Amino acid sequence: MPKYIFVTGGVVSALGKGIASASLGYLLKSRGLTVTLQKCDPYLNVDPGTMSPFQHGEVFVTADGAETDLDLGHYERFIDEELTRLNNVTAGQIYEAIIAKERRGDFLGGTVQVIPHVTNEIKERIKEVASSDTDIVITEIGGTVGDIESLPFLEAIRQMRLEHGAENVVFVHLTLVPYIKTAGELKTKPTQHSVRALRDIGIQPDLLVCRTEHPLTDDLKKKIALFCNVEIEAVIDARDVASIYEVPLRFHEDGLDDIVLSKLGIENGAPDLALLERLVERVRNPSTETRIAICGKYVDLKDAYKSIIEAFVHAGAENDTRVRLLWADVEEIERAGDAGTILGGCHGVLVPGGFGERGIEGKIAAVGYARRNGVPYFGICLGMHAAVIEYARNVCGLTRAHSTEFDADASAPVIDVMAEHTGIDNMGGSMRLGAYECRLVSGSRARQVFGVDVVHERHRHRYEYNNEYRELLESRGLVSSGVYPGQDLVEIVELPDHPWFVACQFHPEFLSRPGRAHPLFREFVAAALEHSKNEVSECRSTSST
Ligand code: GLN
Repeated sequence: MPKYIFVTGGVVSALGKGIASASLGYLLKSRGLTVTLQKCDPYLNVDPGTMSPFQHGEVFVTADGAETDLDLGHYERFIDEELTRLNNVTAGQIYEAIIAKERRGDFLGGTVQVIPHVTNEIKERIKEVASSDTDIVITEIGGTVGDIESLPFLEAIRQMRLEHGAENVVFVHLTLVPYIKTAGELKTKPTQHSVRALRDIGIQPDLLVCRTEHPLTDDLKKKIALFCNVEIEAVIDARDVASIYEVPLRFHEDGLDDIVLSKLGIENGAPDLALLERLVERVRNPSTETRIAICGKYVDLKDAYKSIIEAFVHAGAENDTRVRLLWADVEEIERAGDAGTILGGCHGVLVPGGFGERGIEGKIAAVGYARRNGVPYFGICLGMHAAVIEYARNVCGLTRAHSTEFDADASAPVIDVMAEHTGIDNMGGSMRLGAYECRLVSGSRARQVFGVDVVHERHRHRYEYNNEYRELLESRGLVSSGVYPGQDLVEIVELPDHPWFVACQFHPEFLSRPGRAHPLFREFVAAALEHSKNEVSECRSTSST
C-alpha cells in the first residue's frame, strides 16, 4: 500500500505548487523511496491539448502520448521518472468517464451525484497511479482553495484521509506570507484565512509551506503554527530563490522531508543532494555567457516554452556557461525585413514548436539568417518545418514552397499533413503524440551528438516533411539524418557544411534533465559558445531573460 501526500494551494495562484510538489518528490526519492507525482486539474477540458498557450502555457507530452499540464514537466525533471497519462487527471476526464458509465446503464435506477460518484472516480484515479512498488504518491490539486471547481477533489482527498488513516495520508498546504511594504512586515492573515477555508471543508493541513520574499522568523512561524493548528516544525519557510533547482535544497534545510517522513512513520537515510548542489553552483557561477535567440510568437509568455528554458539551464550548466535567452518576436522580424537587425550578435538561433500562420515568415527568415551567416541553428518541430521550407525556397529554387498548414494550395508542399491525419475533424488528442523511434544515420552529426544508433523521442504534430521532395532537397545538401523506420518519416535534418544546423521533428526539450542535459541542447549550446568566440557585436531583441 502506498502512502499519499496531497498538496493544495491557497491565497493566490502561481505560488509554484508544481515545483514545491516536484521538490518534495525529489527529496523523498533521494532518500531511497519510490515516488510518483500526479496533478489533478479541476477544469472541464479533457486535457490541455486544445488550450492556447495564453491560457495554459506549455503542453507537456508524456512518452505514452498524453497532452498534459506543464507541471508534469517539473515532475519528470525532478524525480527523473517517466510519467504517463494517469499522472494528469482533469475534471473533464472524470465527468467524461461518469457520463459514459451513466449512458451505458452502470447506474441504472440511481441518481448520479458529485458525492459519491464524482469523488469515487477521483479516488480511483489517485489510487490507480501507483504501481506495485510505489512507496509514495504525491498528488497536487490544481487551483486555489475556495475555487468552486476544486471542491470535489478536496472532498475526495478528505475521504482518503479517513479511509487510509493519518499515518498514510499527509496534507501539505502551500500558502503565501506577503510582505507589506508600507508596514515593513510579513503578514500571516492570508495564510490563516486560507487554512480556515480548508478546515471548513474538513481538511486540517499537516504542513504549511509558506512562500515569502523574506525569511520567516521563529516568532512568525510560532504565530502561524498557533493560528493554523500545526506544529511549529511543520511551518516551512519557502523563500524566493534564484533557481528552481535550489528549492529542494532549501526545503531540506528547513526540515520538510524529515517532518513529512515522521508523519508517515517512515525512517529512511539522509538524502544525497550532491547533484543538485553541483548544478546550482554551476548555474550561479558560470565562466561565460552565451546569447541564444528564441524566435517565437509568445515572447512575453515564458510559460509557453517552459521545458525549452529548463533544457537550456541544464545545457548551460554542462557547458559552464550562462545561456542568456533573447526573446525575438517573429512578427517583428517580419516587419524588419532583415532578420539580421534583430538577430545580429546572437550566438545561436532556435525556432521552437508552434501552431498557426502568424509569424511563420519571420521564423523562415530567422532560419535563412542563421544558415547564411554560419550562426548555429536549432529547429524544433515547426522549427524543422521552417528549415525545410527555407531550404526549398532559397537553395532548391522552389520559391513557392510552403507547409499546407499555412497554404493549403501550396505549389510545392514540402511540409504536408500526415496521411493518417487527413479527414480527422476531432481537434483533441488527434496529433502524432508521444514517443517514437528515430534511427540515426551513421556519419551524421545527429548520430555523433547522440552517440547511439536509435533514440526514442516525443512528438506533437500533424504535419511532416513530405517525402516527395526529399530526393531533391537531399541532392542539394539537406541531409536527412534521423528517420522513423515505421513509416519512413524524416525526424531530423541537418547541413553538414554549416557550423551547426540541426532541426528535428520531435521535442527533445521534454527529455532534458538536471545533470543530464539533452544531447541536442548540450551540443547546440557548445556550438553557440564556440561561435561566441568570433562574435563581438551587440545583440538587439525585444526582451531578454
Ligand atoms: N504546427 C505544426 C504541426 O502541427 C508543428 C507542431 C509543433 O511545432 N509542435 O505539425
